[in-house]
Amino acid sequence: PYTGPPKEEVLALRKKFLNPAIFHHFKQPVMIVDGKMQYLFDETGRRYLDAFGGIVTVSVGHCHPEVNAAVIEQTQRLQHTTSIYLHHQIAEYAAELAAKMPGNLKNVYFVNSGSEANDMAMMMARLYTGAHDIITLRNAYHGLSEATMGLLGQHTWKFPVPQGAGVHHALNPNPYRGVFGNDGPAYARDVADLISAATPGRVAGFIHETVQGVGGAVPLADGYLPAVYKTVREAGGVCIADEVQTGFGRTGSAYWGFQNQGVVPDIVTMAKGIGNGLPLAAVVTTPEIAQVLASRLHFNTYGGNPVSCAAGRAVLRVVENEGLQQNCADVGGHLLLKLRALQAKHSIIGDVRGMGLMVGVELVKDRDTKEPAVHETAVVFERCKDLGLLLGKGGLYGNVFRVKPPMCWTHADVDFLAAVLDQALSEL
Ligand code: PMP
Repeated sequence: PYTGPPKEEVLALRKKFLNPAIFHHFKQPVMIVDGKMQYLFDETGRRYLDAFGGIVTVSVGHCHPEVNAAVIEQTQRLQHTTSIYLHHQIAEYAAELAAKMPGNLKNVYFVNSGSEANDMAMMMARLYTGAHDIITLRNAYHGLSEATMGLLGQHTWKFPVPQGAGVHHALNPNPYRGVFGNDGPAYARDVADLISAATPGRVAGFIHETVQGVGGAVPLADGYLPAVYKTVREAGGVCIADEVQTGFGRTGSAYWGFQNQGVVPDIVTMAKGIGNGLPLAAVVTTPEIAQVLASRLHFNTYGGNPVSCAAGRAVLRVVENEGLQQNCADVGGHLLLKLRALQAKHSIIGDVRGMGLMVGVELVKDRDTKEPAVHETAVVFERCKDLGLLLGKGGLYGNVFRVKPPMCWTHADVDFLAAVLDQALSEL
């Protein structure tokens, strides 16, 4: 049983000593003290089904025994030396990760968070091309460092500080709300127009998620990536795929999100699920691009530490050995069917979308005007929590449920989610 301080005390400490802007997701905050695979437990021992994977960070399951064993073994042997000495974990892990990549994506840089990875990707793009301008998408989320805040496409996260020099926000190829609907090449033509209007005609690069995560599980319109990659490369730029949420099989139909649109990026960034909860992130690029960073010293104290690498290697093995990509396809297919049945019953569900276990449910007051049902989303969200289901919430208006559970979810978990959501929506 839990023996720490009571919830009220933790909340008081947090209010007094932590960042005052930190948010606790639910009106009545939940305190989580234990986790096991797809379940989370509060201080009273109450079990919740986790539909959000600790913000998509737990990929293969909370406290997965194989990942834990690898971390414990490495912790007991050697925790940290930095990369100035040779260590087999980082070298073997880089080789294993590179083997998962298509094309010539063979050089791996380890860092500690998604923001750091995207900072590095932007710098690489600028150094390699000698250009400065970077195209990002409206509604994007790539981190909260100064550089990545400039890439953000949602005002709700932006502070009024200098950011985003040379960054241009293109139209979001959102099939549900975007101006060109699901016509990917039309949005890409607008990027060509943006490049000719707002840049010197040459750009450093283009960065994208393949299913926008924080933005509300928004997949990019069909055919967008092949068209926009071509446009960006014609303007001398490199293409950066942010796989922080979509990588490692989560989309079911592919190991990497970008593969769903048949493209091969020049730089790929990863974080979150890569370490199943340990601080670990990576940038993978081609030897040609990596060469530009060899012109100066480069170093990261914790990047690629043996313990995080042990976790990362275990994640690769578990995804493979437990067939988790296939499970995401299978369970995710069942999830979409169940959610579409709910959509047929509840007119407040305007859109159900996504791939594998990366799914969004958008609530609207009116299916024609698509006016966001913000209040209702908050009420249902809270009620689902009370019924034992921890959903994610997001989108610019906060009217999207984000279903991105640990990849070990089963059909029974989907059925539970559907029953809970049905009840909460019926009670509105
Ligand atoms: N990219 C994406 C797609 C993300 O979802 C996030 C985090 N929500 C980040 C980058 C930033 O990662 P971190 O919080 O580890 O800096």
